[in-house]
This record gives sequence, C-alpha cells and structure tokens, in this order.
Amino acid sequence: MSSLLKKLMVPDMCTAQLKEINTEIINLRHPLEKTAQNPVFGDGPLYSNLLICGEAPGLEEDKTGKPFVGMAGHILNNALFCAQLSRKEVFITNILPWRPPLNRPPTKEETELFAPYLYKYIDIVSPKIILLLGLTPARALLKISNNLSMSKLLYKIYSVRNIPTICCYHPSYLQRIPIFKQYLWNTLRIIVKYVELV
Ligand code: URA
Repeated sequence: MSSLLKKLMVPDMCTAQLKEINTEIINLRHPLEKTAQNPVFGDGPLYSNLLICGEAPGLEEDKTGKPFVGMAGHILNNALFCAQLSRKEVFITNILPWRPPLNRPPTKEETELFAPYLYKYIDIVSPKIILLLGLTPARALLKISNNLSMSKLLYKIYSVRNIPTICCYHPSYLQRIPIFKQYLWNTLRIIVKYVELV
C-alpha cells in the first residue's frame, strides 16, 4: 500500500484499531504492570514505511510511556538522522510493553505472550520494511536458533508477516561498543535504499 493511500485511510479506522490493541494489552493484566509505572505502546505515524522494534522499555520509557526516549533512543535518533530519516516518520515499538524489573532481559514466555500484539501493530502499520533491534525481538520473531549471534544476522533480509525484515545490534549495546554504530548506520542506509525502490 502506498504511504499516501495509507495516510488517507489512517485517521479513523487505524487509529481506532491501535487503541483497541493497546486496550487489549492493558486488559491482559500482566504481572509486569505491578512493577512498571506506565505501559509503553507503539508510537509513531500509522502510515510509516519503517517499523522499528526493540526489546522492552527502560527507566526513561517507563517514566514517560514512550518508546526509545532514554540513552538508547538518543543513539537511535542520531542514527536515523544520519540516514536522513526523521523519527517522526517511523513507527517505533518494543516486543514488551512493560519495563521488566531492574531492566532484566525479557523471558521467552513474556516475548511469546506479547508477540501477537506486535504482529497486530505490524498488520495495522503495514510498513515496507521492519528493523529489529537486538537479539530479543530477532529470536522472538524470526524463529532462529538461539546460538546465532547478531553478527550472523546482520544485513540479511528475513520475512515477518510477509514484510522484509532486517536486524541490527540494540542501541544500548552500541552505547557500550560505539565502533559498532557503523552497523546501524549501514543497516539504515540499506533500509532507505530499499524503501526508495519499492
Ligand atoms: N530499549 C528498548 O529496547 N526499548 C526502549 O524503548 C528503550 C530501551
């Protein structure tokens, strides 16, 4: 679907669908809500060509209820800027809507439970391409073997809901190993080229 067509359709139907998904997430009454401050839902325009999915909210995201607003978000925004993409045109979400206590990694049970809601976001946004940040969403969505490291997944095109999907290191990891930021820049360059072509 062209982004113009999506833009024209979006206002009522898709916004209502998005609200429904968010209500379903709340109605799950998942135990993580007890330790979190706010749910962090997918955020961004519903006509985006690019959907980015991270792992789970951190401290800043939990406080504000918005994905990728802390240090990882800062790194992501800079990389988007370098690729001449604006964060405002990207739909950003996480596999988990709640911050796990002390930022522990999401469990397999948690990612399996929340993956269907992510698929629903993907179906509504219907992006041209998906970027998975980190091994948690990659393992949950791509059904790859657990012993594959991110270095083996880089620059490969997978498919999620029939949408081309690419993976890269999580921005929090890039904060620790800044030289690896080049992988995110390259991945975003591939994405921009791809979106221009289709
Ligand atoms: N890390 C994530 O995976 N998601 C966020 O929203 C913030 C940090």
